[in-house]
Amino acid sequence: MIIEKSEEVLEKHSLCNNCLGRLFGMLGKGSNYIRGKSIRLILNMEREAKGMPAFKEPERCELCGNILKRIEYLARLCYERAQKLGIEFESFLVGSRFPKEIMDKEKQLWKEFGLKFAEPINREFNREMGKFLEVLFQKPVDKENPDVTFIIDPCCERIELQIKPLYIYGRYRKLVRGIPQTPLKGFKESVASIICRPFSKVTRGKCIFHGTGREDVDVRMLGNGRPFVVEIKKPVKRKIDLEKIA
Ligand SMILES: [Zn+2]
Repeated sequence: MIIEKSEEVLEKHSLCNNCLGRLFGMLGKGSNYIRGKSIRLILNMEREAKGMPAFKEPERCELCGNILKRIEYLARLCYERAQKLGIEFESFLVGSRFPKEIMDKEKQLWKEFGLKFAEPINREFNREMGKFLEVLFQKPVDKENPDVTFIIDPCCERIELQIKPLYIYGRYRKLVRGIPQTPLKGFKESVASIICRPFSKVTRGKCIFHGTGREDVDVRMLGNGRPFVVEIKKPVKRKIDLEKIA
């Protein structure tokens, strides 16, 4: 069924090995490239035996436009971007934004040939990018809770970084009166601004202060102090020395 179906498809469409293999991506193990290459080899051997011309891999794939041949290059772009930013992370994930026309074309192909074991192009792209980046970064893909997600637009080579926020719990004491808890007109400083400053500096992210309960300007906060949480959005550095900040 695989060889016959592939012949039908290739008679009408010029596909690269990745896109050919992906039509049967849910079957067997290994990469879609290997699937496609193997299918093409067997199919061409059968055709040769019948005196028919071979289906060579096209210069340009009509489905992916050769995007899948540029994964290593795009992975290097991601790597360079992360290095340049100096971003700290322990795990990552890859996402992508494919043009609708490619996704539609692919679905059309599945329908046209009744392909029930195909894998979508974005899944192959994300997985293969992940494999390259795991080697480059020496860090693992984490599908559940990654520190960083690279969202790639493969057509215009745009890379967007989504960085998981940091949350730090603490307690503060206010030994003098006359400081508002959050920024207030007429006051230069607030508890929030004093606490956030070192966190912003160290993490290079945007710090948001969440205090428990409200507190008047003219009171002190003694004893064990008031609990708070700081949320740091888009932290470039996430391994921070809390002792040093305190
Ligand atoms: Zn292709």
